[in-house]
Amino acid sequence: MDPEAPSSHFSNCTHCGFCLAVCPTYKLTGDENNSPRGRLRLWSEEAAGRLPRDKWTDFYTEECVGCLACETACPATVPYGQIFERIRHDHVTTGRSHPGPVLRLAAALVTAPFWFNLALLPARLLRRCGLAWPPLLFPGRPPLLQSSAAYAAELMRLRNPTGPRVALLTGCLMEAMFREINFATIRVLIENNVRVVIPEHQGCCGAFQEHTGLGDAAALGARNRKAFGSVEVDAIVCNSSGCGYALGKSLAPDRPVRDVLAFLGDLGPVRRQREPTDATRVYVDLPCHLVHGQKSPGIPAAVLDATGYRWELAPNARDCCGSGGVYNLQKPENARAILAGKAAFLNEAEGAPVVLATSNHVCMMQWNSAGKSGLVKRPYEVRHVIQLLDPGECFGRGSGPA
Ligand code: SF4
Ligand code: SF4
Repeated sequence: MDPEAPSSHFSNCTHCGFCLAVCPTYKLTGDENNSPRGRLRLWSEEAAGRLPRDKWTDFYTEECVGCLACETACPATVPYGQIFERIRHDHVTTGRSHPGPVLRLAAALVTAPFWFNLALLPARLLRRCGLAWPPLLFPGRPPLLQSSAAYAAELMRLRNPTGPRVALLTGCLMEAMFREINFATIRVLIENNVRVVIPEHQGCCGAFQEHTGLGDAAALGARNRKAFGSVEVDAIVCNSSGCGYALGKSLAPDRPVRDVLAFLGDLGPVRRQREPTDATRVYVDLPCHLVHGQKSPGIPAAVLDATGYRWELAPNARDCCGSGGVYNLQKPENARAILAGKAAFLNEAEGAPVVLATSNHVCMMQWNSAGKSGLVKRPYEVRHVIQLLDPGECFGRGSGPA
């Protein structure tokens, strides 16, 4: 860890405590050490040599979800996310934190998109056949072999749109496991007369490395700067808020990255027509990395209206769902307890079907687990908002056409 930058940032904290009310781990435990202010104090005391390295600092560091809600709440603009990212990486590289073998394997594989896509081919097949059983794997019908790049090129030839040109990040897990969301994104963009290019040689945005403290996020950033840096487009867009946040940091300040829903909101997307008798109700949850990372006001109402469905924000839509990238794998009990508070409303929610929509595939996994783990005892479906704009979207059999 660079000893200078973090300690200078620690001193920005005025200990006002405004961040406590928004911190999911503080709300869960009431433990000051498990709050943003508490963690900053532990790290600064240790950096100053007044506190020895001990297992409690390691414990409270690992307890943090990384939701960044404290950054939004902080009047002193303490860059908590930047500090936390450095501390977490430092703890992993010095052996104070030990991500498990599955995460280590995944961290190695996401840097090699061909092998990652190949390794997850059986998982795509299981999802496509409706046989995916782990609680985090939401239903869907991902294409097995055709890549998003090939699909975009094919659809561009067929439809020949003439409007603004965008470069799309296809992502690592999104492409390898949840490719149907990329396909839906491409369909929706092209239907809205947007020209879509998928820059070659792009790779993982680095969010996985940031979430785990493993690997070299900077090297991945450099790769994407090369892939996206010279492409001539009107916008670089991303359909996952966590990936968009990470890619945005890598390409800043030269190439801003936009959430694809914000981009579509400015365009005014084609509105889907629904039957007047359609009783679907959509409850929209806002990913932390959209509102606290990208500092976005949310998902544009123009986009949600264009789905044609009756929609409303989910209760506490700006609060963390407990996903935290891989937090639900590393701290499953905390993640479930955080989700429990948010998901309870689904038990009583009106609609047939009831749909929980968000804009981050990792949050979708977390929301899907609420049903599998018994937090929600009635049927509901989880969708990416872009899928609700997709002409092929269909409830009751996963998510849209191949
Ligand atoms: S990132 Fe989230 S969980 Fe971590 S200290 Fe900030 S508010 Fe709490
Ligand atoms: S809101 Fe900011 S300044 Fe106040 S205690 Fe939290 S981190 Fe420190």
